[in-house]
Amino acid sequence: MAPSLNETLRALPAVEAVLNTTELLPFAQRLPHSVVADAARNAVAHVRQEILAGNTPETSAESIARLAAASLAYASKPNLRPVVNATGVVIHTNIGRSILAEEAVKAVVDVAENYSTLEYSTQDMARGSRHSHCEELLCALTGAEAAIAVNNNAAAVMMVLAEFARGREAVISRGELIEIGGSFRIPDIMDYSNAHMREVGTTNKTHLSDYERAITPETALLLKVHTSNYRLIGFTESVSIKELKKLADQNNAQSENQILVYEDLGSGVLLNAYPFDAEAEPTVAHSVKEGADLVSFSGDKLLGGPQAGIIVGSKKHIDRLKKNPLARALRLDKMTLAALEATLRLYLDPERALERIPTLRMLHMSAENARAEAQALAEAIGKAVPASCGTLEVIDETARAGGGSLPMHDIPSAAVRLTFAQGNAQGCETFLIQECDAPILARIKKEALLFDARTLKRNQHEYIASSLARYFETL
Ligand SMILES: *Cc1c(COP(=O)(O)O)cnc(C)c1O
Repeated sequence: MAPSLNETLRALPAVEAVLNTTELLPFAQRLPHSVVADAARNAVAHVRQEILAGNTPETSAESIARLAAASLAYASKPNLRPVVNATGVVIHTNIGRSILAEEAVKAVVDVAENYSTLEYSTQDMARGSRHSHCEELLCALTGAEAAIAVNNNAAAVMMVLAEFARGREAVISRGELIEIGGSFRIPDIMDYSNAHMREVGTTNKTHLSDYERAITPETALLLKVHTSNYRLIGFTESVSIKELKKLADQNNAQSENQILVYEDLGSGVLLNAYPFDAEAEPTVAHSVKEGADLVSFSGDKLLGGPQAGIIVGSKKHIDRLKKNPLARALRLDKMTLAALEATLRLYLDPERALERIPTLRMLHMSAENARAEAQALAEAIGKAVPASCGTLEVIDETARAGGGSLPMHDIPSAAVRLTFAQGNAQGCETFLIQECDAPILARIKKEALLFDARTLKRNQHEYIASSLARYFETL
């Protein structure tokens, strides 16, 4: 006769018995007793619930200990941890946008492990300014007179509007009232900074005369926003910074009220190089040269550095920003400053920047090189995964810049396509994300899994191969 429910429940091992298994021994050695005991107790309770729900779980002390061990292993894994990016999207906002150059990583570690010259000037042997570390580099790279870096570009926009347009008017084209990544909408930022938005023109066309008519004694600035993540094509017209500057100058010559021209560029392109030139992603230097009084951009988009918002422009305006209370609230920490300085330093030699800054290297990589990388990945997978599991091919694919940059630009790339003879693409995708220490993000296309080689590092090929082998072993 089968045992009754009560008998089954009574036969469950005691928490003590679960704790004494070899499964939990390694955890008992490195974690506090209470933590391991809680895990064992929860595992017993879980099995009890299963039985009460009419299921027939394994009830040996060892199998319950394995449940506890799994939950302990899961709990001890950091939440924020590395991801392997096989998506072909270079600046992927969900997984941290840009990865840093080795030089930048080293700079971060150096200032994290040691006291630093964060706000100390060795020249004056006295207190210095944290704004000084990147300013000269930014000026050299953009042609601007002065610069300041804050937490991110959203913060930069907010600070410029708050300092120069609070309680006054900022004129902006209706074609540039954009939303970027959900929480950043130009009209909302304006509202929050107490700048009154004066919309001009239409969605597709805005003329210089539209700005001209909007100017009043209340006008504080003419704002131009780079429509980073979308492009208006067809019957369109917008006004260049050069024309806006001319308009502002004409006004400023005749009026007490001095109007500023400010461009929010979004992606900070510092180099004239493929693929930026192909898609007319304007450089910061270009915007400065055209006459923008202030230009702001992100540190971790096309620039390829840490999260930051950089503002460059004329000294008298940047000086005002440095004194704004938001400059203190939104300031960068030493680790970000170190990463930013080291990244900018690489730009002094453009060839070196293209080689050493991962975002630039990945965007710049030729289709042939991407194909060679994909070939190497296919070989690594072929060695680890038996041929009976599925088919491997190297195919042409299209990679993307991402991060709202170069939205119209398809980057010819190459990927490994895995078609499944055992298991399936969905199951494998879930395994690679949920069962691997560093989740592997790939793409599913027509029942196959695609690994774009462009966004991978060579030393990740083995890891992908062994993780796939583990997936097929679980089937
Ligand atoms: C990305 C972007 C922002 C926001 O920058 P964050 O660095 O993400 O805060 C603002 N404006 C434009 C035009 C952008 O492209």
